[in-house]
Amino acid sequence: MLNMYRSAPEILREIYGYDAFRPGQEAIINAVVEGRDCLVLMPTGGGKSLCYQIPAMVRPGVGIVVSPLIALMQDQVAALRQAGVAAAFLNSTVPWFEQGEIKDALIRGSLDLLYLAPERLLQEETLALLENAELALFAIDEAHCVSQWGHDFRQDYLGLNVLAQRFPAVPRMALTATADARTRGEIVNRLALKGPMRFVSSFDRPNIRYSVRIKDGAGKQLAAFLEEHRGEPGIVYCLSRRKVEETAEALRALGHDALPYHAGMASAQRATHQMRFLRQDGVVIVATVAFGMGIDKPDVRFVAHVDLPKSVEAYYQETGRAGRDGEPAEAWMVYGLQDVVRLRQMVEQSAADDQHKRIERSKLDALLGWCEVTACRRAALLRYFGDEPPAECGNCDVCLAPPKTWDGTVEAQKLMSCIVRTGQRFGAAHVIDVLRGRDTPKVRQHRHAELSTFGIGADLTDTQWRSLLRQLVARGYVDSDPGRYGALTLARSARPLLRGEVAVTLREETKLARSKKKPATTNRDHGFQIGATDEPLWEALRECRLRLADQAGLPPYVVFHDATLREFVRLRPASLDAMLRVHGVGQSKLERYGEEFLAVLAEHPQHSAGSTSPAA
Ligand code: ADP
Ligand code: ZN
Repeated sequence: MLNMYRSAPEILREIYGYDAFRPGQEAIINAVVEGRDCLVLMPTGGGKSLCYQIPAMVRPGVGIVVSPLIALMQDQVAALRQAGVAAAFLNSTVPWFEQGEIKDALIRGSLDLLYLAPERLLQEETLALLENAELALFAIDEAHCVSQWGHDFRQDYLGLNVLAQRFPAVPRMALTATADARTRGEIVNRLALKGPMRFVSSFDRPNIRYSVRIKDGAGKQLAAFLEEHRGEPGIVYCLSRRKVEETAEALRALGHDALPYHAGMASAQRATHQMRFLRQDGVVIVATVAFGMGIDKPDVRFVAHVDLPKSVEAYYQETGRAGRDGEPAEAWMVYGLQDVVRLRQMVEQSAADDQHKRIERSKLDALLGWCEVTACRRAALLRYFGDEPPAECGNCDVCLAPPKTWDGTVEAQKLMSCIVRTGQRFGAAHVIDVLRGRDTPKVRQHRHAELSTFGIGADLTDTQWRSLLRQLVARGYVDSDPGRYGALTLARSARPLLRGEVAVTLREETKLARSKKKPATTNRDHGFQIGATDEPLWEALRECRLRLADQAGLPPYVVFHDATLREFVRLRPASLDAMLRVHGVGQSKLERYGEEFLAVLAEHPQHSAGSTSPAA
């Protein structure tokens, strides 16, 4: 594609096959094309790559992309080459003779993009090589890795400030999906960006539907959720290795193509499972949080958490792996009192110093508060990241089925008094027995039937008391002491509530039947659903894609995204010209794959009118 100096919109159309820029992309591209340094904050899946790939093609010279993730480099380069872009990467996995060819191409000026890990870039040999090449820009991906306060600090990133000294005339872009105000400042300083333009996109991922459920037989709940996503690729996160193994096995028994992934597995097997997830259709990966960094699979249809993550940031990052292609996706989580207790315990027992523990505690509290929200879940999430979202989104569990709330002040007082009267020494089960006035051996042993709180809670069920307790723990009124088998104690903040100076509004526990509504069709145009009559064509197109991908040794989505196949079904292009007008079809892919897909389409003539009309 080299040296044709096309405009950004032309490249978008011809190379990527997209009609329009996403919010923010064009302004960023223009700034870099003009030679400005930039700081770009965009959520995962927002479309950051285009923001440096296109200017690298518009400006003379090669764009240098710094990325810490080798797997990600390989996939991006493969996808770019498919689209006809002269892209390459240099790292230890590249054979030496090929390295020589890439270096030659770099000096000759016949590369559009070169991907490098920071440690490679910073070698004197590489820097000297770059000084002999014409450079379009530096794009520093995952730029938050330069921040020592961030959660992904990498020593190598600190060295990247040499770029400012050795290549003062080359524009530099720092890109990240996670950076609070403090980290942003650090990125600008440590990378020595010069008068950078700052672009901060909304953190909203409108195609992701968020829902959080109370644990009530997590295995069954997960099975029911996965039933709705049968055959679709997704990620299930668990806290422990053992649970990963067990869950993967249970899902396999239910006929899902589920594979475990955790740090305790042999690395070869881990790599195989990751590869299968990327390359095959419909694999469910069951993993600890060890999985996901650098996974750039755009068609992940769901991310399920059967254990709580550590913070809202972690949750947002993990769920952000769903639906990068903009198609409907689900972020689904179940949690219960046990999770709260266990995570609190992990914080207290960690080796961190007091200040860090305090931070971790407050991050966990923010997450728990978010789990228990009684208003739009998305709005709460976005406010956490400093956005100012509309009050309702229409695509989260709360908006779709608003929970009933009730004034639980009196019941909370009863529960807390009972905790105090029994000496703050007992766990949930016994405290509830006392409240409900049960005659158990433990009650007899401790003579708890004589307490004033014995039997004052007979009007609520065990489930209701547990729900109340969980919400009080989540809100920090009651603590559960892991050192003493989960003994319940009152937090300092419980006093005003006990004295009736504050009230507490609680969620009413409904065993929500899952909403039958299909995931959102709100903010973006993904209204078209494959109907039963189109099913054979859809499957045939997917088979064709898998076959072509296998032949090329590529993941299927590199051939075409789901959205593009769906457009084939809807529009039924009958010629190469018509196919070129479909979203996601560029010139290079048309030449490579057009005929094959046309043949499949021709084998499936449309039966009757109406079968392809877009769903309302
Ligand atoms: P990020 O790096 O920000 O996580 P990517 O650059 O991987 O996101 O983009 C996510 C997905 O969105 C990719 O599949 C990409 O092809 C697609 N995409 C990016 N920009 C556009 C656009 N303007 N129109 C349609 N799809 C786009
Ligand atoms: Zn909502």
